[in-house]
Amino acid sequence: MGIDLPAATRCPECTLGQVRPVARAGRIVPYRGVGVELPEEFAIPTCDHCGAESMTDELAGHFDLAIETAYWSQRPARRARGDVTPTTPIRLPRR
Ligand SMILES: [Zn+2]
Repeated sequence: MGIDLPAATRCPECTLGQVRPVARAGRIVPYRGVGVELPEEFAIPTCDHCGAESMTDELAGHFDLAIETAYWSQRPARRARGDVTPTTPIRLPRR
């Protein structure tokens, strides 16, 4: 998406791990009261040791757009399944 991210930086949380952009499928984040799957290609700088995520202001703007788009695109499927209420709060997975 044209976002420049540092290739790898030392984690400010644990100071042990390296923070690298991580993009993968299956990340469900709470949004508008439901669980929305973050687009597979959306990369978030994530520590490989403690799992801390470094969200920059620039990235947060892209995140809002990506999650909003995903919310609406996933809405019909969710309604079709009758699965409109998440049963458990879902957090971004660690490591
Ligand atoms: Zn860390």
